[in-house]
Amino acid sequence: MDRYDVVIVGAGLSGLSCGIHLLLLEPEWKVLIMDRLSSESYPRYHRMCGEALSDAAVEEMKPIKLTGVRHRILFAEEHWPDGTVIKAKARGFIIDRPAFLGSMQEMFQGLGGCILWDRLQSVQESEDGFVLQAREGNISCSWLVGADGAFSRVRSELYSEQPRSMIPVKQFLLRGRMASDDTIVFHYGSRYQGAYRWEFPCGDHTNMGYPKGCQEPYGDVVEENGRYIPIGALKEVVRGRSCLVGDAAGMVNPVSFGGIRVAMLSGKKAALYLSRGSLEGYQSWWDDSQYSRTEFYEAYLEGRGWNDEDMSEFIHPFRKGYGISAFIRAYLRRPGQRRMVMAYLRSFKIGW
Ligand SMILES: Cc1cc2nc3c(=O)[nH]c(=O)nc-3n(C[C@H](O)[C@H](O)[C@H](O)COP(=O)(O)OP(=O)(O)OC[C@H]3O[C@@H](n4cnc5c(N)ncnc54)[C@H](O)[C@@H]3O)c2cc1C
Repeated sequence: MDRYDVVIVGAGLSGLSCGIHLLLLEPEWKVLIMDRLSSESYPRYHRMCGEALSDAAVEEMKPIKLTGVRHRILFAEEHWPDGTVIKAKARGFIIDRPAFLGSMQEMFQGLGGCILWDRLQSVQESEDGFVLQAREGNISCSWLVGADGAFSRVRSELYSEQPRSMIPVKQFLLRGRMASDDTIVFHYGSRYQGAYRWEFPCGDHTNMGYPKGCQEPYGDVVEENGRYIPIGALKEVVRGRSCLVGDAAGMVNPVSFGGIRVAMLSGKKAALYLSRGSLEGYQSWWDDSQYSRTEFYEAYLEGRGWNDEDMSEFIHPFRKGYGISAFIRAYLRRPGQRRMVMAYLRSFKIGW
């Protein structure tokens, strides 16, 4: 049976971020990343995404370099049910996510990491770590990282909590452009059940999506996908010699629905504490992190119950933009909507 210092289950953004940062800190360690997908289904699965990430996320992931950039994003444009349109600065990128993941795989392997294309089936704790059962045989390791997405096998085998909600999302690639090259567009309304419809540029196409069942697809659909977004993160992200990162821990922000930045950051943090030989610091980082605040999930639940009038009332103080004076006005004049005002403010602080 092959033995590794660390096995990371999932070669997505959180898993590869963890593997790369770990080998940068501990070049001698034997690190394995395993993923269940084949060479055809891997890019298809990872294309199911708006593929938007911010400048702040790019800064945080260093020395991993961003590759596969499709568009430089400068603005976000929001459309609200009463006709209000807010255009705000939003510095970031639309990427070709499979291409970016490909370059991360190369970097990981270049540092001496191994990738195994096999599915984790079950996990057993052993005296000195874990024994993992995969389709092709057993693997043992001292430390285990669950980076295996919304329906994490590591989580279901070793942890007792689940993310509080799984939001089924439909995503479409439409022929032609609805958004300009440098703008990501969001449409809000009660029909989107606490979330939104996005329209992002994607080469000559538009990447559009919304929670399943909110509306009929429209436009010239080239590709249609469906995937779940886990929100309402776990409290416990460490158990013994294992930890969970990214979607496996339900870390997506329930207000912005951005998950890439926190996936990559959590992978980096887990690597840091693994290299120190104790994951307690990773749990403390999560406990103290803005990302783990329950206010975001509570605001999501509240927003789910709003009608279009509630939304219009909420956005009225922000119609000229999201300046601090608009937040103060909204906080003072809309006591019934303070939870959402604060969640928005905090969500702006941690960005996307
Ligand atoms: C439609 C959609 C649009 C989105 N758009 C954006 C966006 O524009 N910006 C943003 O910031 N966030 C976005 N998100 C959220 C973001 O995509 C996720 O939060 C992020 O990808 C999480 O990365 P991850 O590595 O933790 O998980 P994943 O990307 O889900 O990767 C998990 C990996 O684990 C593997 N795996 C699973 N089970 C096993 C197993 N048993 N054995 C081995 N391998 C396994 C999977 O094959 C997969 O490769 C979007 C999400 C969706 C669904």
